[in-house]
Amino acid sequence: MYLKRLEIQGFKSFANKIEMNFEQGFTAVVGPNGSGKSNISDSIRWVLGEQSAKSLRGSKMEDIIFAGTAKRKALGMAEVSLTLDNSTKMFPLDYNEITITRRVYRSGESEYFLNKSSCRLKDIREMLMDTGIGKDGYSIIGQGRIDEILSSKSEDKRQVFEEAVGIVKYKTRKEESEKK
Ligand code: ATP
Ligand code: MG
Repeated sequence: MYLKRLEIQGFKSFANKIEMNFEQGFTAVVGPNGSGKSNISDSIRWVLGEQSAKSLRGSKMEDIIFAGTAKRKALGMAEVSLTLDNSTKMFPLDYNEITITRRVYRSGESEYFLNKSSCRLKDIREMLMDTGIGKDGYSIIGQGRIDEILSSKSEDKRQVFEEAVGIVKYKTRKEESEKK
């Protein structure tokens, strides 16, 4: 399982639609300060369901929509699609590729899609649980995150390990059934 493709349109500095195809193995993104490198990782966290504007380095969710430049008008919508390879069937779905899409308009509400079919954020969260890929998973390690894990309370450290071992799914189901 690996990140195969990322398509961004209207997200932060990416006004035009761009498509990045990744090969298996390492990819490094290099570029001058302010050229949009961190915006790429922000877009990945956002499409995986990030709800906090602050952790995307904005003050409100609308800040992630292209705000315009001296030469170009602001846009009304941002859309990001992330495609994961599923040829090993890590996700129990009958597809070789899984594309998660999130779209937001200036009016607010986000829309989510799985392989182009409309879905809830909850469906995406459940699919990604225990894979390490979710927005709080260990596949995205932001600046300062290692220090944060090392200095966190033991219960918080435990969460990182539980996700890695793959038992978050069962704990969440247990908690949900206890609530009912
Ligand atoms: P550094 O090397 O300094 O970390 P970087 O390559 O990571 O730089 P980013 O932080 O990804 O750069 O990009 C910052 C740029 O994105 C800024 O020029 C900022 O104006 C632009 N930007 C952020 N949000 C928006 C938005 N909503 N609309 C247009 N441009 C935006
Ligand atoms: Mg940066």
